[in-house]
Amino acid sequence: MTYIFRSALLIFLYGALWQFASLFEINQMVSAFYPAAGVLFYFIYRFGPAYIPIGAIAIMLGASPTDPFWEWGGLQITMAIRQLFFYSCLGLILRKVPAFSLPLMRMYSVTILIGSVFLTTILSAITSVVLMEHYLGLDPSDRLNIFVSFWIGDLGGVLMFIAAVSLFLDFFEKENSYEDIFDSGLLRPVMLLILISSATTLLFVLTGLQAEISRFGYLILLPVAWAASFYGIRFALFAALCVNTTAVSHYILLGLDTYPAIELQTLFSVNLGMAMLLGASLEERRLAMFDAAHDPLTQMLNRRAFYLQGQALLERCKRQDRQLALMMIDLDHFKHVNDVWGHQAGDNVLMKVAECCRKVSRHTDIQGRIGGEEFVLLLDDATPEQAFAVAERLRMMVEKVLIPKTSEHISTSIGLSHLIEKEDSLEDLLKQADLALYQAKEAGRNNCRSTVVNPRTLVVESAPV
Ligand code: GH3
Ligand code: MG
Ligand code: MG
Repeated sequence: MTYIFRSALLIFLYGALWQFASLFEINQMVSAFYPAAGVLFYFIYRFGPAYIPIGAIAIMLGASPTDPFWEWGGLQITMAIRQLFFYSCLGLILRKVPAFSLPLMRMYSVTILIGSVFLTTILSAITSVVLMEHYLGLDPSDRLNIFVSFWIGDLGGVLMFIAAVSLFLDFFEKENSYEDIFDSGLLRPVMLLILISSATTLLFVLTGLQAEISRFGYLILLPVAWAASFYGIRFALFAALCVNTTAVSHYILLGLDTYPAIELQTLFSVNLGMAMLLGASLEERRLAMFDAAHDPLTQMLNRRAFYLQGQALLERCKRQDRQLALMMIDLDHFKHVNDVWGHQAGDNVLMKVAECCRKVSRHTDIQGRIGGEEFVLLLDDATPEQAFAVAERLRMMVEKVLIPKTSEHISTSIGLSHLIEKEDSLEDLLKQADLALYQAKEAGRNNCRSTVVNPRTLVVESAPV
């Protein structure tokens, strides 16, 4: 059933993109983009060689409206085989490259993609020239032109399709991944996108009206480079797709001819390739920064990053006269967990506890793993009573955590301290919380102690909750 559905989708997409390409005809029979070949590549890359025969049907049916396959001669048949062969090979090879993945995020994937698409489109274009020479007997001076036209048209088209697929996958596979873009308060990125597209289109069209200044149109690369280095790969791909399609639409609508087709195709390919490379390099830097600040097991802040961010929060709270609580969490008898059920079980428990810490925190709070099985939370704007209630909630949540493949539970002890004296440093708060934690352990473990709140009254009060 999935096979039939995907096959229908492949045939439909191939045909639709073929029609889409004809909407962007910049010269007779020459489109600014040829994304259809990208569909063949993608389906075979994603779903395997079983879709190669469907690819053949898609090519035959896709061309039918203008060039029915039952009337095809040797040239059309061999050209169709050429397309199927090269893009299937590209899909099959990239399937075997373990570190290549879509949606595009990493420099490695982008480099592999651009490199292999470059090579495939060159080989495919050379084959096209050979076939045309054989069937039509080309004028030798036309060879280079035909080669470049086939090559760059397919290159831009495949990159364009992969950019669109990458955004599509990203959007549907990781639900909240666009939050960072849409939540950035500076300027609403949708507005920004409209601005970028309209400004660049205007620039492109205005300069394109006069042959002498038409090359200024290359400035449309700049906003895309800016989007890539500022917002990362998703926004860059968005921007490049919008800029390319809006610019070429206006160009066609106004009937301009200051740029030869090949030049436009090159410009659009460069725009997409640049968006991918710059965008991925920003993602890579973001990832390196994340790795430098976080513990790989629990994804919580490591000791150094916790100190840096914690100190900043402490200073803000002092300046704005806000309350601040520090919670130190140490698992009970954790050595025993490791000894009896193994280190891996211990690691799994640590991840679950980290998840509990995240659940009880607000997004302005700071969470860190500062020791093997010691976590610290800084609770922003929390009174001692509120912080104690949070600690109790966390303690009860941890009580429900099971050691993997057993019905055994774990427990935790928690020490709390509070920002009371203006001169208190983060170290002071940590020391005080450590003392409170010690008392909690002394009192029999699986409980909370605060330097300020009387736990007895609060535990009783918070019990029904
Ligand atoms: P207590 O109730 O007094 O806290 O007893 P405890 O056994 O938990 O004692 P302590 O806090 O000193 O134990 C620390 C143990 O945590 C030692 C080590 O085996 C374990 N540990 C530290 N880091 C890791 C880690 O990354 N993974 C795993 N699985 N265990 C760790
Ligand atoms: Mg410990
Ligand atoms: Mg412990």
